[in-house]
Amino acid sequence: MALDGPASSGKSSVGAAVAERLGLRFLDTGLIYRSLTALALKAGIASDDQPGLIALIPRFELREDGAGRLTRVVLDGTDATHEVRTHEVDANVSAVARQPDVRAALLDYQRRLAESGAMLMAGRDIGTVVLPHADLKVYLDASVEERAMRRIRERGLDPSGEEAEAVREQLRARDAVDRGRTVAPLRAAEDAMVVSTDGMDFDQVVTLISSLVVAAEAAKPKAEATGMNAAEPRPGEDEAAQAAPVAGAAARAQGTSRSNSRPVAAAPAKREKRSHILDVAMRLDNGQTMLVRMVARLSQWAARALATVQIEGLERVPRTGAVILALNHASNLDAIVGGAWVSDALRTRRIHWLGKRELFAWPIFGWICAHGGVHPVDRSTADVEAYRLATKILERGYVLLVFPEGTRSPTGALQEAKDGLAQLALRTGAQVLPIGINGSDLVWPKGRKLPRPFPRRRIVVRIGEPFLVSDVVPPSTDRRAAKAVATTAIMGRIAELLEPRQRGVYASAVRVPEPDEATSAVV
Ligand code: C5P
Repeated sequence: MALDGPASSGKSSVGAAVAERLGLRFLDTGLIYRSLTALALKAGIASDDQPGLIALIPRFELREDGAGRLTRVVLDGTDATHEVRTHEVDANVSAVARQPDVRAALLDYQRRLAESGAMLMAGRDIGTVVLPHADLKVYLDASVEERAMRRIRERGLDPSGEEAEAVREQLRARDAVDRGRTVAPLRAAEDAMVVSTDGMDFDQVVTLISSLVVAAEAAKPKAEATGMNAAEPRPGEDEAAQAAPVAGAAARAQGTSRSNSRPVAAAPAKREKRSHILDVAMRLDNGQTMLVRMVARLSQWAARALATVQIEGLERVPRTGAVILALNHASNLDAIVGGAWVSDALRTRRIHWLGKRELFAWPIFGWICAHGGVHPVDRSTADVEAYRLATKILERGYVLLVFPEGTRSPTGALQEAKDGLAQLALRTGAQVLPIGINGSDLVWPKGRKLPRPFPRRRIVVRIGEPFLVSDVVPPSTDRRAAKAVATTAIMGRIAELLEPRQRGVYASAVRVPEPDEATSAVV
């Protein structure tokens, strides 16, 4: 993973904290150029003497600090961690770092370090040159004034004094050299997420970057989930979601899905059909009818016939406003156990679902769908249509049920979520209610035609605290990063409601090891 940015943007301290939090290795490549500069200053080697500088490379070494972070500098066999951060090194390091042969000579060294396991690497050119295929590229930015203030505070200087002005001046000068050099200039890679940290405190930045790392890890194919730097293909879009395909659909509709290969705009002939469906959604009633109550009752009865069902946190279901019910998806039973009791708790409001149009052609079931809050989605245009429908439902202040993973997990554990749900939550300002369904996969696993009522098992449905994604995404975050952070937050909160076995790719997004105490009832 690449973390680039200008001097004092916080890469080193943020990177080290993120690495510690997530158990990654960490390398701040600035230390390499600083080490060479310190050695050159001591040996009297000029900053443009490339052969002389290259000859110094074997004389420095970076060592681990005990937490997998290469933060200790050894020069000529002696610890010199503090000597590479002097004012003199600051003033000369950019001149050394601009030498093309020196940079070329250091490339292999950096890449080899990245190869031996998951690593967060901070620098100026990591996303553009050193690790162009990194799984995640973040460019941390901040204004010169903000970055200078951080340094000024660190050094306990008077912000209006001469020394403070010198700090500002030096930062500007280093920025100019780093950005203006011909080889590996400082810039954000085209596929980097740019995070502006102006106005954010340290913890906020660490949390934000951690979320992006977790999201990138979750997006990796299972077999590759050991390192963070490989240039591997992205997971393909899997089959269209059976019901509520909003998340994947919305991502594709917005053209943000990584493997997006379909045109975003709908063909004119389809447009008519879409607006018809929107009309249906807009006309639809939001109240609970006899039918909705009856289906909920039947679902409860069916679920109890198959397993012991325990529901926790029903009192957290919001009674008003737009709500997205976000559920993990591991079994055909999830819609039944996830919907039936929540439907009761909503009292007068109904749950809105999105379902493929074909469902409506089934005898009886189709009729129930048409009258029970399911909205038909044409899968040939599902991308745009599902997203618009979902937006409409939420803009009207209704309740929408979504499986952010799109399809059932074959293992029962959380799989990567599409970021369309986050986009929807950010756009509509709807509350997200995380719901974790535990054990449904053991009763009716994916791939089996029928459920297994024996041996009798327990399904635990845990309902978390509703929250707004805008509360977890710092305001200055760019659009793409905001979606990734929000997705990780939503999935992390679902993961917290699941037993460890089912947390899957979002295990590291869990904020607390165990879910809060909640009122629970065996039903
Ligand atoms: O990040 P830090 O300020 O410690 O880096 C010191 C200097 O090393 C930078 O000003 C830049 O000139 C150089 N550098 C670089 N490429 C990197 C990391 C640092 O050119 N990947």
